[in-house]
Amino acid sequence: QRRRDCPVDKDELGRSTWNLLHTMAAYYPEKPTETEKETMKTTLDSISKTYPCTHCAEDFRKDLKTNPPAVSDRDALAKWMCELHNRVNVKIGKDVFDCGLVKERWLDGWKDGSCD
Ligand code: FAD
Repeated sequence: QRRRDCPVDKDELGRSTWNLLHTMAAYYPEKPTETEKETMKTTLDSISKTYPCTHCAEDFRKDLKTNPPAVSDRDALAKWMCELHNRVNVKIGKDVFDCGLVKERWLDGWKDGSCD
């Protein structure tokens, strides 16, 4: 019998959320309107208030206050998201990601063609 899907744990929830957040940043407009900037800020604020890992969400809300989202354009937001993720990586003892590779990881695919 086919194995049924189960509720997500903290790590799967994290991976799914980073998929969404980095991909949202990768496709954020290069020249956002003021409304698009506000919508992105509200979206991040809402996620930080509803994220279903209480202590993760608490730290996320604090982080948003210290490091407000850089919504001026796509490159700025992608870099900001990478740095946010790196602060979480450091906090939980994971490797820091090279933010120079964010475009390849989340938009274009690796230069060696492995995502083609
Ligand atoms: P993930 O960290 O989920 O990363 C997924 C993929 O993203 C990686 O394989 C890599 O290719 C890429 N990546 C990694 N770092 C970066 C980066 N800096 N920029 C761009 N791409 C990158 N877990 C906790 O235990 N405690 C917490 O307090 C906590 N807070 C969180 C807060 C938020 C807002 C989110 C979204 C998640 C949080 N998590 C937390 C979950 C945690 O970040 C990881 O998602 C989880 O531990 C699974 O890790 P992973 O090794 O599978 O890779």
